[in-house]
Amino acid sequence: MKPSFYQYNLAELQALFAAQDLPPSGPGLLFNWHYKKRKTEPCLIDLAKKSIEFVAANMSFDLPEVHTVKESDDKTVKFLFKLRDGQKVETVLIPFNNKYTICLSSQVGCAMKCSFCFTGTQGLSRHLGADEIVGQFTEAQKWLTQNRPEDDRILNIVFMGQGEPLHNFDAVKTACEIFLSQHGLSLASHKITISTAGYLPGLERWKAEMPDVNIALSFHSPIEEKRNKLIPINKRYPLAEVLKFVDAIPHGKNRFVTYEYLLIKDFNDSLEDAHITGKLLEGKNAYINLIPFNPFPGSEFKRPEMSEVEKFKTVLDTYKIPTLVRKTKGDEILAACGQLNTKI
Ligand code: SAH
Repeated sequence: MKPSFYQYNLAELQALFAAQDLPPSGPGLLFNWHYKKRKTEPCLIDLAKKSIEFVAANMSFDLPEVHTVKESDDKTVKFLFKLRDGQKVETVLIPFNNKYTICLSSQVGCAMKCSFCFTGTQGLSRHLGADEIVGQFTEAQKWLTQNRPEDDRILNIVFMGQGEPLHNFDAVKTACEIFLSQHGLSLASHKITISTAGYLPGLERWKAEMPDVNIALSFHSPIEEKRNKLIPINKRYPLAEVLKFVDAIPHGKNRFVTYEYLLIKDFNDSLEDAHITGKLLEGKNAYINLIPFNPFPGSEFKRPEMSEVEKFKTVLDTYKIPTLVRKTKGDEILAACGQLNTKI
């Protein structure tokens, strides 16, 4: 089988062309054609004849197949993609002001086994290739343009779908390079957010290799024992160590760390939990997203009342930490955070 065009960043494509003595303008033209102009058919204009032949003989342009699309009343769209080996992943378009944030998956299933997460219950089947990550974007964009041409702009990318993105670092990095490339989607780096359960080896690589992309930390509790129950890898990479790392991230206008706090009824939603969190994060370049737990079939946890969520937020406000209560979108189609599961 031919390797996918969508797995190469620009530098890799340039190296392939150079090795064949093909004109060096080709890779930029191809990026422009397939990513900027969003064409899926072969590029036959401007490219040298031998480059066209090389591409046709050596690259595949297959994309993940859209298996099902579900739309909810709030305009959230959930795609179920079928990959070439028959495995499935989900991708969600989340609307805001007639634009969209796309929530991408990075793995089939997930190895982190967080107790509150539906994806965690299915275990890790495999990593996605960069082409499969880029393909989710390309196909979702195509659907949007066809079905909602009046508002088809995807402005933000979040790696908050299935999988732990920093556990599949190479593919996520290549996909980000394609999204950021001036010849590709030309996205600004702060428009991409990688969400992590606190996988330290991946955070180390992020710092060394793509520190301009934003990080969101799945925080969920300031108390190690509670966090251990929610996120098993906390035993290996304790919150204290992860925070030490995250604290060292330089500040900037568009640079802040998002701390995601999943609120679970009678587990981590007390005012005392809020005060401990406030004291821990006070004065940091923190931005807290409060996410009321989204239930899924068989889940052991419960969602708190909105009044409790608001009380929790009021405590954090006293520590002057910007806090947003994340509105649940798409829950009637099981497209909300932690509701993605492709085994059922
Ligand atoms: N593995 C990464 C990204 C995937 S999860 C991570 O852990 O950050 C994206 C976000 O959804 C995380 O903050 C995760 O904790 C949250 N989430 C998972 N299950 C959830 C659920 N049932 N309800 C609400 N949020 C959930």
